[in-house]
Amino acid sequence: MPPVTLLLPPALVGALWDHAEREAPRECVGALGGRLMASGAEAAALYPLANVSSDPERTYLAHPGHLLRALRAMEAAGLTLVGLYHSHPRGPAEPSLTDTRLAAYPVPYVIADLRTRTLHAYRLPEGLPVALRLEEPLD
Ligand SMILES: [Zn+2]
Repeated sequence: MPPVTLLLPPALVGALWDHAEREAPRECVGALGGRLMASGAEAAALYPLANVSSDPERTYLAHPGHLLRALRAMEAAGLTLVGLYHSHPRGPAEPSLTDTRLAAYPVPYVIADLRTRTLHAYRLPEGLPVALRLEEPLD
């Protein structure tokens, strides 16, 4: 079962939007490393990945080598995969049929809707919303 909530500190939120704006009108994609807590997961690092989709303005496909490298970097830092993110340059904030069909990891999928500048997270393929907490960890 993936976490019920995903905590995304402001610095990572900023990095995610920077990545999304840099890639627009193409969709960006990246991984979030962090820690699993009793009440959910806390993201601690963001790993931008290359979108190698043949139609990057409408779909995303993370570069497999980049994803593997990110997962190894997480492991070396004592982190685990707690989320995957991508952008929808023209919205909406909901997962597309392709997003749902291709979802392969049991972690929240964060979608950055550039049109409304909102972030939403879902468990896929179920399509269940995951609560995002955009705040500093309590520690
Ligand atoms: Zn999508």
